[in-house]
Order: sequence, then structure tokens, then C-alpha cells
Amino acid sequence: MAPIALTPPTKDDESFTVLTEHGIAEALRKNAPSQLKSASLTGNTTVTPPELATKSPPSTEPQLPQLDASSVQCTYTSSPRTVPAVGSPEMASQKVCSDHMIQAQWTSTTGWAAPTLQPYGPLSLAPTASCLHYATECFEGMKLYRGHDGKLRLFRPNLNCNRMLMSTNRIALPGFDPAELLKLVVKLCATDGAKWLPKDRPGHFLYIRPTMIATDPALGVERPKEALLFVILCCFAPMGNMSSGIKLLASQDDMCRAWPGGFGYAKVGANYGPSLVAQGEARKLGYHQILWLFGNEGTITEAGASNFFVVWRNKESGRLELVTAGLEEKIVLDGVTRRSLLELARGKLTTGHEGLEELDVVERSFTIFDIVDAAKEGRLVEAFAAGTAWFVAPISQIHFKGEDIEVPMVKGQIGAYADVLRNWLKGIMWGSDGMEGHEWGYVVEEEE
Ligand SMILES: *Cc1c(COP(=O)(O)O)cnc(C)c1O
Repeated sequence: MAPIALTPPTKDDESFTVLTEHGIAEALRKNAPSQLKSASLTGNTTVTPPELATKSPPSTEPQLPQLDASSVQCTYTSSPRTVPAVGSPEMASQKVCSDHMIQAQWTSTTGWAAPTLQPYGPLSLAPTASCLHYATECFEGMKLYRGHDGKLRLFRPNLNCNRMLMSTNRIALPGFDPAELLKLVVKLCATDGAKWLPKDRPGHFLYIRPTMIATDPALGVERPKEALLFVILCCFAPMGNMSSGIKLLASQDDMCRAWPGGFGYAKVGANYGPSLVAQGEARKLGYHQILWLFGNEGTITEAGASNFFVVWRNKESGRLELVTAGLEEKIVLDGVTRRSLLELARGKLTTGHEGLEELDVVERSFTIFDIVDAAKEGRLVEAFAAGTAWFVAPISQIHFKGEDIEVPMVKGQIGAYADVLRNWLKGIMWGSDGMEGHEWGYVVEEEE
């Protein structure tokens, strides 16, 4: 190891001897005491077992300022940017951001400074900044939807903010109250929404990227002492029709995306860069995404940066099942779309729906060989990928070890279950089909 990595622990670090729940409890105690009690952030992720939290010595340090959206300082742009035309290359470039951004700075000695809403622009970082070397970075991905009823909506944004806290904890970035992050996201959306997502573009959306990076300008490999939270709004082309379904290439034996004890469950940048070689190869071969398998059994985890779902007929019981990987092993990301589809399916599909056969909703470990068998035996009904970026994307084919598994799409372009689930989500996100008032749709009041 390079000498530079051998930074001796300081007094400040003594309580962080293990990067586990204890370390996380300590981080929260310092930087987000209000979150310490929340044993569960997104439902399944245990962050602070109370017995560990209470073992910590009582803090003698003065309480540092926490992230506080109410103290946001606004500086509006004097050179407004141009909103790309519908269908233009700029719109699809994923490079054009709205007029403003949110920033908030943190240091271990001064806590969180007042956040700012300021003109969108480049960051200034020391070349020695921790995030540039040690992947001390995490992010969220959510969307701001322009509804068919004219309203602006977020979709269950509190879950994204909770998950962001879980991700920051995993990589020793500072804690914060997720409700404050949500207020900052809403502030940015309220400021730029009317112009960047005009009312004559119903069905369109902006992509919201909350990000946190460690900005420490010291090269030592150690817990960040300085960080920057920022939120940007990026233009994306409206979702086209995946007219023939997506094709997945199963990952090879020599690569996996996540492993037990790792960080696949957190939205940290370190998960994505190393997956791009495989993704590039897949694209070259005509596949859209990698189906990430794990271990000798070929356990199915995720499809690209989306959760993977399959509908099949259970061999033993003969019943239909909607199956997706469970979260216990922490090798799968706890997707907001995944969670929402499971909740919708449990509420509406287990007793049959408009002529659709009822099905069981199951979170459990399953393998690529289970899918191969189901396909061979005519029990494979459909499969789809689900996530904010790709929404609910039907899967038409999976390539595994030289063989193509053809996945049925009974409605031509999509399976019957993916179709109803997708329509429910669409209704909630874009305020249509009688779903306008659904509690998962968070209406943003626009500032003109
Ligand atoms: C973001 C992401 C998902 C989807 O999560 P959503 O909250 O539904 O957008 C799934 N898998 C991975 C690896 C991801 O990064």
C-alpha cells in the first residue's frame, strides 16, 4: 500500500473502528441525530439497531448545524438558458440542465452550511478531492413529471431521500434529515419546473439528480471531513416505446455487479463505472442491458440499473407468480419502482384483475436456470425490468451461454401484467386514468 494510505487514526476516528451499523449510528449521531431513531429507512434496510445506538458514549461535542432547507439562500440567474425543443438532439443529449441548482456544503467541524439555490454551472474541486480518487460519491435518480392534468409531480420522493441517506452512510459521507433534502429538491423543481417542463408538454419529465461528493482536498485515504450536496435537473427525451422489448445478455462467470458484504444495495458511484465494460460489450452485440447474475448458481440480481421481474407458473403449485430478487443479501438495490410494483401487485393482482389470472407476489432468490427451465416447460409468462430511468420495460429475450431464451409478450409489445402495472404507475406519475389524487404522487406548486 502506498505510504499515503497509511494515515494514522485520529481521536475523532476512534468510534468508527468498524464500517457497520455501529459506524453508521455514530455518523447519524453526529450529523443527523433526528434520524437516529429510524430503524428502517426505506422499509427493509435496518440502519440503526437501537442497542448499538445506545452503546455510543453520550456526546460532549456541541451540536453541529444540520441540513436546513428553510435557510436556503437564492440567487437567480441573470443569463437564462434556452429550453431545448421537443425532439431536438440537445433534448436527448442528457447534457442540458435547467437554470438553477441546489448546493449545500458540509464540514466535520462546522456541520451543514446554509444551502443555496444558484445558477447552474461547473463545480470547482481540488484535483486532490476525495471523490475523484476514492469514489466517495453517491446519488439518487428521480423524475419531475408534467401531468396530463397540468400539474407537476414527483413520485414517492421521500423514498429517494431516505435511500440517499442510506447511501451516504455506506460511504462515510455526512448524515442529514431526508425531509430537508426533499424540501430542497422541491424548491428547485418549483423554481425551474414551469419554464423547463411547460404545460404544453404533458407526459414529459425532467430527470432529478441529487448527488453527494466528498470534497476534502487531502489525499489521505480516510473518512471525508468535507462534502458537497448538490441537486440538478437534467433534460431527457420523453420515453419512446420499447416497441419490441429489451434484450438482455446474462453476465459472464468472470464478472458480477455486487456481492454479499459489498455495497450493491447503495446507490454509490462505485457500483456503476466498473459495470460499463460489460454494458458496452452487450450493446456491441445488440443487447440493451446486462442481466447481472451472481455466484455459481447463477442467482438473478438485476438488469442494468433496473430491478428484474419475471412472471411464471410455479412448477409445484401450478400457480402464477410474480417474482423478483429479495433484498436480504444486500446485493440488489431497493428500487422505488420495484417496491411500488410489489405493493400494487399485492394490492390488485393477487385476487385477479379484469380477466387476468390471479398471481402470487414473491420476493426470493431465483436463478437463470429456473428461467431456462420455465421457458423450456412453457411456464414462462413474461419478464420486465423496472426503474425510474427505464420505467417498466418489457423483456423479449435473454441470452445465456450461447442460447436465447425467448420471453413471451402476449400483448405484442408487452406482457399483460407489465401492461397493467405500467399503466397504474403512469396514471399516478402523470395524473391520469383516475389516479390523479394517489398518495404516491407528490404535487409541486410552481413558482412562476
Ligand atoms: C436506481 C437503480 C434501480 C432502480 O431504482 P428506482 O428507485 O426504481 O429508480 C435499480 N437497480 C439499480 C442498480 C439502480 O441503480
